[in-house]
Amino acid sequence: MAKPLTMELLSSPLLSLDEIGSALTGLSVTVRISTSGVTHAPQCRQVGKRTPAEETMTARELRARGEVRPCRTCGGALVEELSRAQAEQFEKLVPILERRREQAREAELARREEERRTSRADAIDERASDIVNGWDRAIGKRRAFTGPAEPRVALVPCDDCDAEAAISFDPGSLEVSYACPSDPEHGFHALGDGLKPLALWPHSGANQWIALGLVAPVIAGDDDAWAATYGTRADDYRATLSAMEAFDRAHPPRLRLAPDVRCGDCGGPLVPSPERGMGRRRIEAHYTCDRRHEDGRFRHYEKRVVDGEIDWSLHRRLHEHPSWAAAAELEPDPEEVAAYTAELERKIALFDACAGAAKSVDNLVRMRARLVERFVFASKVRDEGALNAAGLTRYTPYAHRWAFSELARALLTSRVDVNAQFVTVATPFDEGTPLRRLLRTREIRGELADLRERQEELERELAHLEAES
Ligand SMILES: [Zn+2]
Ligand SMILES: [Zn+2]
Ligand SMILES: [Zn+2]
Repeated sequence: MAKPLTMELLSSPLLSLDEIGSALTGLSVTVRISTSGVTHAPQCRQVGKRTPAEETMTARELRARGEVRPCRTCGGALVEELSRAQAEQFEKLVPILERRREQAREAELARREEERRTSRADAIDERASDIVNGWDRAIGKRRAFTGPAEPRVALVPCDDCDAEAAISFDPGSLEVSYACPSDPEHGFHALGDGLKPLALWPHSGANQWIALGLVAPVIAGDDDAWAATYGTRADDYRATLSAMEAFDRAHPPRLRLAPDVRCGDCGGPLVPSPERGMGRRRIEAHYTCDRRHEDGRFRHYEKRVVDGEIDWSLHRRLHEHPSWAAAAELEPDPEEVAAYTAELERKIALFDACAGAAKSVDNLVRMRARLVERFVFASKVRDEGALNAAGLTRYTPYAHRWAFSELARALLTSRVDVNAQFVTVATPFDEGTPLRRLLRTREIRGELADLRERQEELERELAHLEAES
């Protein structure tokens, strides 16, 4: 590679101002800088008509304008002649710059190679995924590949019982199957007569990634791109989930940011799922119980409806006592909130350390986004206080259609049970609770004080009237 031109060295982002040294960065250069950032000596024939007129400045000032690329035909600038000391400094810097250029080139090559490898890995993964999902048409089109013919098998815990189920892939027929020894229906959902049962197993936990791990290497053949990119995905996926579970066990959440909504049929948690899609294909946000109940079904309730019931119930209870909505006793312990925020930050760091090849798996991406969201929100609660962050300090009792925030619902309810008929809301200030006793006592004392004051006022007025007559 050609020895760097003076201007190339002076303007190179691979060397810092300090490294170049003030002797050289003080050199004055006369340049015409094109709009695309190419610099020319004033007389260069490559200069375009619209290039602005020449300017003289120090090399330091030129660098401050942002990155430029010197024209190799003219040297990129008319540079003031170098003194002997400057020339020596220049010669010392040349090998350093050349080495850095070499490193930058290698890094760029490695980046491109990585990009090509990832895109090959994605293509293999996509094809493997078509096979796992049994999309026969897609498979038919791309059937041809050569590879070993023995079936590949992975043992996994069954989703529906404690038995060890087998996921297997037959490279000959491209068939991927799931079999639980205790019941052939496990892992599948019966869809009625004549219909192929719906495979649920690929959608629970790591099974899908394990199945892809059986199929992809066969398709990949000699190409190691898939193994390099996704080889550890199934393991990383499981490791991340178990690290998150272990973290939660060791650090039970110290602050509830959403109401504790329970399935009225089994008592399990009803987990909110956000709304998805747009326009007509929009799916409303739901509360879901993921257990199969006695009737073989899961439970889904539209979140909007449940939240509306919670709000209505809160309005009714706060109707006579609007000040209770912002009672200081509802404010969580600030130390707990700060500790919770710090724990969430650590949990995110742990997630990032574990996710590895599984970091782009959809539900992990969502899980991380939720964690970050919770962290940001907990930080807000830490900085502003929960009642404030929840909007409860602005509660207007008789405001039409006041919707409580999620955090407000969390602070004002102790538990919410939902079934197909009822939404039952328990609050920390329900009849018989210590908080109610406390708040009511305070309320009565306040009212009595007001009454006393009024009484005194009336007595004074009466005394005045009687004195006059
Ligand atoms: Zn030029
Ligand atoms: Zn089973
Ligand atoms: Zn349930």
